[in-house]
Amino acid sequence: IDFNKASFKDFESIPNHNSFQSAKAFKEFTDYMEVQGHMNYRFVTHNGCGAEVLVSSPFDDKPQRCISLVSNDYLNFTQHPKVKAAAIEGIQKYGTGAGASPLIGGHHEYHVMLEDKLSAFFNRPKDSSIIYTTGYTANSATLLAMLKKNDCAIVDMAVHASVYEGLLETNFKRFPHNSLIHLERALSDAQSKYQTRMVVIDGVYSQNGDLAKMDEIYELTKQYGAFLMVDDAHGIGVLGKNGRGAIELFNLLDKVDIISGTLSKAFGHIGGFVVSKPEIANYLKFQSRQQVFSSTSTPAINGLLTAIDLIDTEPLWRIKLAENVAYYKKGLLDMKLDIGASASPIIPIKIGDPHKTGDAARLLFKAGVYANAIVYPGVSRKDARIRTSLMATHTQEHLDTILNAFEYVNQKLNISKAD
Ligand code: PMP
Repeated sequence: IDFNKASFKDFESIPNHNSFQSAKAFKEFTDYMEVQGHMNYRFVTHNGCGAEVLVSSPFDDKPQRCISLVSNDYLNFTQHPKVKAAAIEGIQKYGTGAGASPLIGGHHEYHVMLEDKLSAFFNRPKDSSIIYTTGYTANSATLLAMLKKNDCAIVDMAVHASVYEGLLETNFKRFPHNSLIHLERALSDAQSKYQTRMVVIDGVYSQNGDLAKMDEIYELTKQYGAFLMVDDAHGIGVLGKNGRGAIELFNLLDKVDIISGTLSKAFGHIGGFVVSKPEIANYLKFQSRQQVFSSTSTPAINGLLTAIDLIDTEPLWRIKLAENVAYYKKGLLDMKLDIGASASPIIPIKIGDPHKTGDAARLLFKAGVYANAIVYPGVSRKDARIRTSLMATHTQEHLDTILNAFEYVNQKLNISKAD
């Protein structure tokens, strides 16, 4: 296998290799990717999430203090004293584990409080929410439970991997990213063939940081009698006047049929959720296997009750994040770097060539800036980029250091767009 052209898939069934031999070949491939600077999988952070992190890399003798551009902890609530105190209080009050899956005794008061808080946060009736142990499971379990062989999902090609995993028991069509013409064609084709047609989109797309054309997608979906599910993992807590996410930006909070999200990004913890109608939450509680046969979240999720409140009581974090994003984007655009259509704290610096992108990530790291190179198969072959995510706790000085580092990388590697 030519490592320069290989993808993860090539190692799934190598001719004449059993799974253990394939795993050995794959290990050589990932080691190669690491040396190329295409993967930070053996980097270790020693001081938790934050604007500044202490990172060891396999290429350096000692940990390095870096500015972090790798975290989804957008508001840095993982370190908020009130959130930490509430998480500790949860453990002190209830212990460290939930003890069982929800239907056989693992449904505790702190789970109910969190579900109630999420329903209220989205202004939906009580009992409209269900929590899962990750955002990934929230998407996959919901779709697996709701869409079967007489149904069809119509998904934007750029949706998260967890959505695709939810489509294993149903029919699905993919439409090119945000293409309304293709969406309409798929809706029209599916209309008389399938019972439930569910359009599935992300609010904010995780690699480009751009938004769904949600208003137009909603209109088309309803015109063809279909349902709309929006995974707003990266928007909730961050976007919208009240931090309700991309769905709030489009004024669709009371209209989207299924809202899914994560508790691991703006809310700074772990877990996922779906907010819909009481009958949907009830259906999922009994019908999603990942819920029925798996233990529930730990009492540390008590911290989330505080984190969700902070979205309303301390909007300064969201405001500071938006200011950081505006300043940083302007700096990148002044250097003529290509940031695509980013409209969120996820800002890709598109370079194209994977080797140049790996070199750029290494130069940035040397300059004290920790960012990921994203190459194939994370994105298509010609679409390699440095993916950066901003946090509310990045200071002006951090942002200037990052911009100077990009300036230096640009001088060395010429990564700006042609005019
Ligand atoms: N949806 C999107 C768009 C994501 O980017 C992610 C995580 N990267 C998830 C869902 C899964 O969330 P979690 O990390 O909580 O499993």
